[in-house]
Amino acid sequence: MIEITLLGTGSPIPDPNRAGPATLVRAGGQAFLVDCGRGVLQRAAAVGVGAAGLSALLLTHLHSDHIGDLGDLLITRWITTFTPDPAPFPIIGPPGTAETVEAMLKAFGHDIGYRIAHHDDLNTPPPIEVHEYTEGPVWDRDGVFIRVAPTDHRPVAPTIGFRIDAGGASVALAGDTVPCAGLDDLAAGADALVHTVIRKDIVTQIPQQRLQDICDYHSSVEEAAATAARAGVGTLVMTHYVPALVPGQEEQWRTLAASQFGGRIELGDDLHRVEVSPQP
Ligand SMILES: [Zn+2]
Ligand SMILES: [Zn+2]
Repeated sequence: MIEITLLGTGSPIPDPNRAGPATLVRAGGQAFLVDCGRGVLQRAAAVGVGAAGLSALLLTHLHSDHIGDLGDLLITRWITTFTPDPAPFPIIGPPGTAETVEAMLKAFGHDIGYRIAHHDDLNTPPPIEVHEYTEGPVWDRDGVFIRVAPTDHRPVAPTIGFRIDAGGASVALAGDTVPCAGLDDLAAGADALVHTVIRKDIVTQIPQQRLQDICDYHSSVEEAAATAARAGVGTLVMTHYVPALVPGQEEQWRTLAASQFGGRIELGDDLHRVEVSPQP
């Protein structure tokens, strides 16, 4: 069984009830954080997961809403890991990730210096290992396998999606993308697909070109659902709602998805949890 928790279902626009994009995937005794938008550690704390308890951070791309709390995550993991000589924190992302992480550590350089000066048992900056990939297997530990494939969120490039397999179950995580061959390949036959969605029917009506621009590099609800249908997944999990999903309008979103996809459709608020078992 793989357990998906939508830690943050928001977007770049701050929302009092939705943290920034972040999804927790727990499988085979391991915990993976997929993207780390604003407020992610507060949401993770609500389900009993701390920064030190994460097996790895998986980044789909380097848009600000998806990495908003990267600095908080790196520093908090460092200062709340109490084992001596902790193993480096694995971060897997597209090319550009190493540069971003390095710059983040530089931004927190004073903080890191203060803490090393103050604590006898903190002698080195946060131990981190960054792995950059666009395609292929990226993780094989204790029965959990992860691979990535390119997605299409141009001009944001490169961007990647993830597929996590464990115990006979599998979950694909799309990130932000239009429908594309890389995602189709990743999601093919998976038990669940976690996909970011925007309501193009609403966004195209907003008289603000900068908002209308977002339609050309995201999937609509219907497009995400069509991807799920092509892939033959059992469950579609929608997140990253643009505009924010208004309580009481869940059925509208569900109906749009159901026009393209006949399987189980999951959506909701932050901390919505979905259990995924192998499809019969
Ligand atoms: Zn994006
Ligand atoms: Zn986004």
